[in-house]
Amino acid sequence: MSKTYKIAVVNGDGIGNEIVPAGVSIIKEVAKKYNFEVETEDFSWGAGHYVKHGEFMPENGIETLKKFDAIYFGAVGLPEVDDTLPARDYTFKVRTELHQYVNYRPVKLFSGVQSPLRDKTKADIDFIILRENNEGEFVQNGKIFYPDTPNGCAVDTSMVTRLGVERIAHYAFKLARTRGKKVTNVTKSNTLIYSLGFWDKVMQEVADQYPDVEYSKMYVDNASASFVLKPEVFDVIVTTNMIGDILSDLGGAIMGSLGLGGSGNINPEKDFPSMFEPIHGSAPDIAGQNIANPIGQIWSAAIMLEHLGEKAAADNIVEAIEHATTGGDLTKDLKGNASTSEIAERISSFINS
Ligand code: ATP
Ligand code: MG
Repeated sequence: MSKTYKIAVVNGDGIGNEIVPAGVSIIKEVAKKYNFEVETEDFSWGAGHYVKHGEFMPENGIETLKKFDAIYFGAVGLPEVDDTLPARDYTFKVRTELHQYVNYRPVKLFSGVQSPLRDKTKADIDFIILRENNEGEFVQNGKIFYPDTPNGCAVDTSMVTRLGVERIAHYAFKLARTRGKKVTNVTKSNTLIYSLGFWDKVMQEVADQYPDVEYSKMYVDNASASFVLKPEVFDVIVTTNMIGDILSDLGGAIMGSLGLGGSGNINPEKDFPSMFEPIHGSAPDIAGQNIANPIGQIWSAAIMLEHLGEKAAADNIVEAIEHATTGGDLTKDLKGNASTSEIAERISSFINS
């Protein structure tokens, strides 16, 4: 009997409605090829749902998601909806309530894609950003005092817990053992001396348990410059929620386009489903034109299948993506003129070849 995976599919808004269906059909094609079953169920949640119903997902949305093996997600956000809301009421909620504490964001240069960094080759850019996904700067705990007076003042609290650092640190060192055996901890602990000073202390304690993995610390200002000047020094980067958010857009940019980045919001214990989504947003400026780059969304499907244990199928998707880019099939963001559906078609015909 072949295995069956139940996948919740949430297109979200904007280009999600174009690139998620492209990803789903590729998932179904590799499933056929590698002999496993995929059952999908669609949920029309997101900012469009909020405009109609006053909520991003129904009250029992999290409970509903718990019944699935994984969540395949596009992006939420519409220009007419306050953009602090989707983060709070959808993305952060799913990531925390389903204990998806690792945000796994690979950065790699596909052959055939021109990085904006000059003279970079494929081998120079290949690393993984692990962003702490449940706490840190994103806990949204703070206050504005006397906002409309001359004494106005505001405070945001960033929260770092021992449990939170230990669990992502162990994930990072274990992952590094399967790759280049190198972990770089990126913080700004010389300035945020309490929260990130504690982060560094716990990270070092875990690093001491993995003497076979090379460990170093780097401040985010230096790391940003190094992304541009010498990306080859990185293997596994482990970092906080906000620093990881910013660095992964930079990672997308050095790969050639934000539209290329895939990611997983991972619950390593697998007690709840993990969620897989591209690193970019809903891109309302280009929605509905069949010009969005579907590769980040399709790569996210590969990350999902690898997490579910279907490594051969995942590798086949990545190979198919690289086949498309090598052949010069590129969307507008990569200075090509292929459409979303042409790229998806090229990827699926490689899988079926
Ligand atoms: P979020 O807050 O959800 O991260 P954002 O405000 O950062 O969203 P995006 O939606 O990621 O914004 O879009 C940023 C820019 O990148 C836009 O100009 C958009 O058109 C472009 N972009 C994003 N994704 C893609 C894609 N898949 N293909 C082509 N261009 C894209
Ligand atoms: Mg963004």
